[in-house]
Amino acid sequence: MSSSRQRLCSLLDRVGLIEGVLRARARFGSPYLTVLTYHRVFDAPEVYPFDRGVIDVGPEAFDAQLKTLGKYFNVVGIDEVCAHFSGEEALPKNAAVVSFDDGYLDNLEVAAPILNDNGMKGVFFMATSYIEERRIYWWDRINYLFHHAKPGQGKITLAYPAHLELDLEGDRAGALATILQLMKIQFDLDVERMLDGMADALGVPWNRDIEREMCEGFVMTWDDVRALRKMGMDVQSHTRSHRALQTVPHGELASELAGAKQDLERELGETVDSISYPIGRSLTSLGPIKEALRDAGYKVGFTNATGAHPLWGEPDCYDVRRIAIEPEYKGSFFRSVLAVPQLGY
Ligand SMILES: [Zn+2]
Repeated sequence: MSSSRQRLCSLLDRVGLIEGVLRARARFGSPYLTVLTYHRVFDAPEVYPFDRGVIDVGPEAFDAQLKTLGKYFNVVGIDEVCAHFSGEEALPKNAAVVSFDDGYLDNLEVAAPILNDNGMKGVFFMATSYIEERRIYWWDRINYLFHHAKPGQGKITLAYPAHLELDLEGDRAGALATILQLMKIQFDLDVERMLDGMADALGVPWNRDIEREMCEGFVMTWDDVRALRKMGMDVQSHTRSHRALQTVPHGELASELAGAKQDLERELGETVDSISYPIGRSLTSLGPIKEALRDAGYKVGFTNATGAHPLWGEPDCYDVRRIAIEPEYKGSFFRSVLAVPQLGY
């Protein structure tokens, strides 16, 4: 966390510079499309076994952020974004999108009502196999296993995907970070095999019944997804199994991309046109993945943690940027990032 950057933003806001920029953007428009990314709106208890990294904001702060956004921006849904990239219709002045990834139940129970109260539409991207098969997202599952590892456990050894020694006693945070990083970069990873091996090595009971039960109150069901849509929210794709597309073998891309689209279209009874990429890396130089996106029928694809999306130059509909909202994006810092996206990180 960059506290000096936060102090700078606080100063810029205090002297009125941020307000000036926000007002100018509201009045004259902006050369950027601002797409905010959230995962969860939730106040986590002190002892919490799952991944805190996806809890971006609590309900009150989320409401405050939407009020700030609504004061200066025109919040649009996915149809307006798709119409812009197809050249059918220009975006309104100073357009913004509020987006959510993954499919947590608090999106329906907490975030959507707050969006409704503020007269805004959100765009929710779903990783469909977690909903369909009642699975726990792999990052939550890894955190859960580490949280419940037997006390006093020293070094553990994993055999898959490679011989890997992890020191839980000396550097538990480092061991956890190693595993999470591996999940993001290892090509053609058998996720189930790796996570089952981890549960064994850590001595934590894990099976499909435990997982299914854990999903209740945590991961949306298809009924929840339909309820979200009925509230006026947009529901779009975040692949099936939430692997970074760069790590998926070419032969499996169609299932991840077209498959997730079909899952959603079957359950919602309407066309799904866009996708946000798990992990969110840019696909700029990755022609084959873009081809697969096109073949699957997607019109727009979103990256993440890539900043505000410039509206000048050659438009790339499969590389739409988003700003990842972090817990420290509050007050002046949030206002500053809205005004000048480069002030974020
Ligand atoms: Zn995600």
